[in-house]
Amino acid sequence: MVVTKEHVLNAISGVMDPILKTDYVSVGAVSDITINGREVSLTLDLGYPAKSLHADIISRIRNAVATIGGVGNVLVDIRTKIIRHAFQSSARPVEGVKNIIAVSSGKGGVGKSTMTANLALALAAEGARVGILDADIYGPSQPTIMGVSELPPSVDGVHLEPIEQYGLQIMSIGFMMEGVQPLAWRAPMATQALMQLLEQTAWKDLDYLLIDMPPGTGDVQLTLSQKAPITGAVVVTTPQEVAVLDAKKGLMMFQKMHVDVLGIIENMSAWVCPCCGEVTHIFGQDGGKRMSEAYGVPSLGQIPINAALCAQTDGGLPAVAAEPDGLMARIFRDMAHRLTGIIAMKPRDRTGIFPPIKVVG
Ligand code: ADP
Repeated sequence: MVVTKEHVLNAISGVMDPILKTDYVSVGAVSDITINGREVSLTLDLGYPAKSLHADIISRIRNAVATIGGVGNVLVDIRTKIIRHAFQSSARPVEGVKNIIAVSSGKGGVGKSTMTANLALALAAEGARVGILDADIYGPSQPTIMGVSELPPSVDGVHLEPIEQYGLQIMSIGFMMEGVQPLAWRAPMATQALMQLLEQTAWKDLDYLLIDMPPGTGDVQLTLSQKAPITGAVVVTTPQEVAVLDAKKGLMMFQKMHVDVLGIIENMSAWVCPCCGEVTHIFGQDGGKRMSEAYGVPSLGQIPINAALCAQTDGGLPAVAAEPDGLMARIFRDMAHRLTGIIAMKPRDRTGIFPPIKVVG
């Protein structure tokens, strides 16, 4: 039998992406199909970073194509192709950044910065170019978490160079705040400083920039949600009722500002005894999960209380960087897939495709 491209596409159309739950043919992800005698080669474009899934995806595609009579060898090349997705119409794009993810919480201390750091590292490990903007004016902790303290240099006298650490590009309001009383900042001043930091950092070709937002829903958060081009927000909460109540306010703030809420992370969901494996729900059970069901927003994951996660993150070497093959790294990798899978299904950004209309009269 003569093998044709149609045969190949037909065979692949039965293979589902493990995260997107769609097949690759209907989303136009397959290209460069070449048939050379018994050998078939093709390219697959993935819209989210998933290095650790590539081997499995390749093997399922090879098996599917190999069922075609007359096919011998099957070569599959996977490319990670992350595009810029839509954001609120009130904002304009930031140079060097494709997608902004705002990581927020209703109150401080729920682990927002810890989640931001480890999620960013998991995204980078999966093959994305990732940055963090630490915008938490009330307690910028990314310099501590990432173990960086140097002042960002400026090459051109206008832009600041992000600090590179563990493969991430990092900028923190904390770098600028030496000796400044953050709580004394008025909202317009803080917002202006943060927008300047966002727009005047020389970000280098980032697929995702995670903004570690100030906790709560005050004026600074509101203005950032309006002015920064946010692809979507992630809400971090602990399971107890008081934290969930505040997290709900955050979720509603984003919805009001037309920022898509991509998902909810429930941190400190339980404590697992290292000796006997008994699970204790110290802060209550499933508060974040129930919130996600009530609001129809995906749950991105539940993170247990973990002494090593705390010690590593506070010690300047976050868990995902300290133990890339450990349990925590795996949990954050799954979360990264879920999050970027949701982003990949969002519409593409269309600003800049049409030139502005000028009325000549
Ligand atoms: P936030 O940014 O919400 O104020 P942080 O990320 O700074 O919170 O976390 C507060 C403290 O809790 C830090 O010491 C951090 O290491 C710790 N922590 C966060 N998440 C966990 C967890 N799942 N297990 C143990 N400690 C955690």
